[in-house]
Amino acid sequence: MDPFAPLGRTMDAGRLQCSYSPGDLPANDCGAQATWHILWTPAGDAGLACDPHMATARHRFVFTDSHPVGVDCTMPGSAWSFDEKRCVCPGEPTALAAACVAGIPTEEQP
Ligand SMILES: [Zn+2]
Ligand SMILES: [Zn+2]
Repeated sequence: MDPFAPLGRTMDAGRLQCSYSPGDLPANDCGAQATWHILWTPAGDAGLACDPHMATARHRFVFTDSHPVGVDCTMPGSAWSFDEKRCVCPGEPTALAAACVAGIPTEEQP
């Protein structure tokens, strides 16, 4: 079995709904309120999951990182922070140390 999650089509992340969709069919969309933000790849492919489907993802797939959905998750321009386990908006000072969702961290960890 392929350990990598099928990323499927791009969903409207702004509604913060679970993006689990067997077969990548709209009729199969979970659509539940997402509680987890998953970074599938270091390249920035992120998804959203409800509790049961986060459990599925942990069982079934490899992924780069995850954290509970927070206020800045999926906000335009927000960056994935591996250290803080959340997404941060560029206006926040801590965002300077965060990995940008659009890129791979370039700073070496101390
Ligand atoms: Zn779900
Ligand atoms: Zn997030």
